Amino acid sequence: MQESGYVPLKIADPALLFTQLGRQPLPGMTIHEMADLMADLGEPRFRARQLFQWVYQKGVKDFDAMTNLPARLRQELARTTLLRLLEKDTEQHDKRTGTTKYLFRLADGSQVESVLMRQSWGNSVCITTQVGCRMGCTFCASTVGGLVRNLTAGEIVDQIVMMQRELPEGERVSTVVLMGSGEPLENYDHVVKAIRLMHDPEGLNIGYRHITISTSGIVPGMRRLAEEGLPITLALSLHAPNNELRRQLMPVARIWPIEEVLAAAREYAERTGRRVTYEYILIDGVNDGPAEARELAGLLKGTLAHVNLIPLNPVAERPQYRRPRPERINRFKQILESSGIATTVRREMGGEIDAACGQLRNRAQRRHMGR
Ligand code: SF4
Repeated sequence: MQESGYVPLKIADPALLFTQLGRQPLPGMTIHEMADLMADLGEPRFRARQLFQWVYQKGVKDFDAMTNLPARLRQELARTTLLRLLEKDTEQHDKRTGTTKYLFRLADGSQVESVLMRQSWGNSVCITTQVGCRMGCTFCASTVGGLVRNLTAGEIVDQIVMMQRELPEGERVSTVVLMGSGEPLENYDHVVKAIRLMHDPEGLNIGYRHITISTSGIVPGMRRLAEEGLPITLALSLHAPNNELRRQLMPVARIWPIEEVLAAAREYAERTGRRVTYEYILIDGVNDGPAEARELAGLLKGTLAHVNLIPLNPVAERPQYRRPRPERINRFKQILESSGIATTVRREMGGEIDAACGQLRNRAQRRHMGR
């Protein structure tokens, strides 16, 4: 991340990886792309719908399970395409919160983390959009090794399919947050394609209103997303109520001042009619005092806003940052609420399981390197 100006991410299209493997990945294909594939194979177009359902809705791992496809087509698909793009590497489960964190391995050996949260109202997942991250937020473990690459739309959606497979028969994933490792708006095209795919009623059938995309504040990406016509929730990671503090915590804030980021968020709310969520990580003695709460309230008063306070999950990579005491968290919340701002405190989802994004992957890599 440069200090003077934003340089859009330029790395090779991750889809090239699969071209090199010589097989076409099925996850990531739209139903129209599957229809073209069927036409190339001399099959009728209705087969595309059947294949689409096997890939996304039923999430099978084996072509032989596709019982309504002729055997010769299953064999041809097995020879020329890839059915799943992720392999489960490890998982950590927290019985207290019903949260499971997965570490998945990709075709090039990279690893990504995803989280499944089973709640009384449904199953939600938090998924990753990049391997690593280049944004450099000072409290975050995901950015420690920098950015490795973008994920493809297929690798993004396959995280949901893989976790849905872990649920008991008859249960499904109903809510998705793109809040794992990476900055989703730096991988715009693949992320938007993945969102359309996860929404498709023939596939995972996740309502747009149950999808949240979280950004550190890439202003051009936020404006572009507002024009996309997707009624999804935008979550803006604010983490500080002024430029000075925000720049200390988030290098991206050196490019776009808080006024510009908030203006883009308000535009998003006006354009889509969707309330914007402002994410605010509470770090003890850094940004969690009453003065910061009042300053934040002043910024958001009168806007279509919801503040989600996230008490820091301490990470081994950032020992200087600690979680505030409950009294400080409650005081911060009260100040916002007394200004009429809807405020929630994110329920702790398993500090016992390296729940802050990036920790499980970093630990696996340290193990790999014998550290
Ligand atoms: S908090 Fe998000 S945007 Fe910031 S470094 Fe971590 S993964 Fe990247």
